[in-house]
Amino acid sequence: MATIKVTSENIFPVIKKFLYSDHEIFLRELISNAVDATQKLKTLSRSGDVKGDLGDVRVRVLIDKKKKTLTVQDHGIGMTAEEVDKYINQIAFSGAEEFVNKYKDQAEAIIGHFGLGFYSAFMVADKVEIFSLSYKDDSKAVHWSCSGDTEVEMEDTIKSERGTDIVLHINKEFEQYLEDATIEGLLKKYCKFLPVEIAFGKKKEWKDGKEVELDEENIINNVAPAWTKKPADLKEEDYKTFYHELYPTLMDEPLFHIHLNVDYPFNLTGILYFPKIKSNLDVHRNKIQLYCNQVFVTDEVENIVPEYLTLLHGVIDSPDIPLNVSRSYLQSDNNVKKISSHITKKVADKLAEMYKTDKADFEKKWDDIKMFIQFGMLTDEKFYEKAVDFALLKNLDGEYYTQKDYIEKIKANQTDKDGNIVVLYTQDKDQNYTYIERAKQKGYDILEMTGELDVHQMSQAEQKQEKLRFVRVDSDVIENIIKKNDNDNANDNYTTEQKEGMRKAFEGVLPENSKLNYFVNCEATAEDALPVFLTQNEFMRRMKEMSAHQQGMSFYGQMPDQYNLVINTAHPLIKELMDKMTSETVMEEVKKNASGHSDKENANEDAKEMVEKTVWTLKDQDERLKQLLDIALLASGQLKGEALANFVNRSVSLL
Ligand code: ADP
Repeated sequence: MATIKVTSENIFPVIKKFLYSDHEIFLRELISNAVDATQKLKTLSRSGDVKGDLGDVRVRVLIDKKKKTLTVQDHGIGMTAEEVDKYINQIAFSGAEEFVNKYKDQAEAIIGHFGLGFYSAFMVADKVEIFSLSYKDDSKAVHWSCSGDTEVEMEDTIKSERGTDIVLHINKEFEQYLEDATIEGLLKKYCKFLPVEIAFGKKKEWKDGKEVELDEENIINNVAPAWTKKPADLKEEDYKTFYHELYPTLMDEPLFHIHLNVDYPFNLTGILYFPKIKSNLDVHRNKIQLYCNQVFVTDEVENIVPEYLTLLHGVIDSPDIPLNVSRSYLQSDNNVKKISSHITKKVADKLAEMYKTDKADFEKKWDDIKMFIQFGMLTDEKFYEKAVDFALLKNLDGEYYTQKDYIEKIKANQTDKDGNIVVLYTQDKDQNYTYIERAKQKGYDILEMTGELDVHQMSQAEQKQEKLRFVRVDSDVIENIIKKNDNDNANDNYTTEQKEGMRKAFEGVLPENSKLNYFVNCEATAEDALPVFLTQNEFMRRMKEMSAHQQGMSFYGQMPDQYNLVINTAHPLIKELMDKMTSETVMEEVKKNASGHSDKENANEDAKEMVEKTVWTLKDQDERLKQLLDIALLASGQLKGEALANFVNRSVSLL
């Protein structure tokens, strides 16, 4: 009788407790061992250390429902009794006691620290047996068994085939692992691309509405997946086929791929695919899969690769990624960090090259990949530095420019009196139509910024470059957005009181809407601008939009939308209204009243009175005020429902 070299009371409860949540990985561990043993045998055969034909080297997974056992069988190098003692009895938990005591409360550290490997079988089995025959000449077969305590039994046995059978007597609680469907599911998850054929049961076929078993074995895996081949040996078609092999449920074709192949300073192969990213929603359904020597490790790659890379699809395979992963362990792993920054560089280089070699093609793909690139630029400084040279802006004519080229294009015409380069954009060209037309009349160019991350991109660009401003075309009258002279709009001939009266009169007809706030003010804009129009402060609006994506900014998100209602005192219609209220009779009356008082306090009284008079005079113009206001709302796409119906009816009656 031998004893496992663990002096702690009992290691098995620890395994069961700590690994409980992830117990299915036992199958991956056992099959990995079987594949390793087979690969070692192949290596020995190639070097001539093992003579003759290797025969059948498939790994098989067998279920015996009656005996309630699950067996992983290989025909690899096998183990002698001495090796079982050395590798299974002693090595497995050398130093385990000390380690377990130290990290009692940190399950993840335990999983991450040492390959529980073979012993993970005890997560689901009451008793585990090993039957093994070494490839070495004159070996005796060995039988090992252990019932989940520190005592093991070892004896000679009879086994004719080279290799190892690991037999698990499945615990009552885990009888799902005796179900074909469960095991097949796990094999598909962990073993799909293992380098040695894994057989599970027989192939099945539908015949006359019945499923019949064929003679042929059911092979789970593709032993030579695309990423293990040389890029030169693969055609475009092969990459696409592999994409669908990886994601059987995905119908879309990927846009393009990057084949990763590094052997220094670490080993890494893989293929990354750029999918069409339609919205934030369908991003996380199909993820990048992480492999270690073709063994599936995880598809939870968040925190392992930069977040924006999780938008990509594909596989990454590196023997330098620890197989027994816990996420927190991986993050702190130095190899993982290096791998992550290497991938960032590769991806950026590939995109830069694509842009350089075929701009037209890159532009065609831009709308589909822009979210990925913007996300990368916003979250990864290194990526930003490279991407700023191929990240594109699209204008209303459907032309694409890099930021640098675009600034070159507009600089001459769209620089204001303070030297700010003003980039105009719209988020809705139909809603902003009137504003866009006026900007175009001035020869200005307008960008279309409809992407989910566009506002963030603008803010980032502004931070990076002084004197660069992005302004939505409807945020003010165009003359104010790009101010060319100091006193452009200064001259109207109305007094503060007159304007105040006009302001109040319009306030009186404003719609009641708790979500919207309107600030009314008078401004001599331009004769050809609308008589009354809405503008929206760029900063406030953008903060509100950005808060939708960012934590800690809900303060902005909760604020009501704010608009400026500008009464254009340069417009003939407004002038006419002004003239009406400042008509002789009104003015005279005001003057008469005013002449009675001469001191300062009374002058204030006069002003107040004049404002009231004005409002009062405009009362009989109510219908016209409403009509003007509605036109302003209509021009900004804000006139809806009942208000719109009222406008239509009023318009008819005015005709
Ligand atoms: P690891 O695989 O991480 O080394 P394990 O506990 O899974 O840890 O296995 C310990 C050792 O036992 C292996 O390194 C290997 O030498 C031996 N071993 C396990 N399974 C097999 C097998 N099926 N065939 C041959 N040797 C095996």
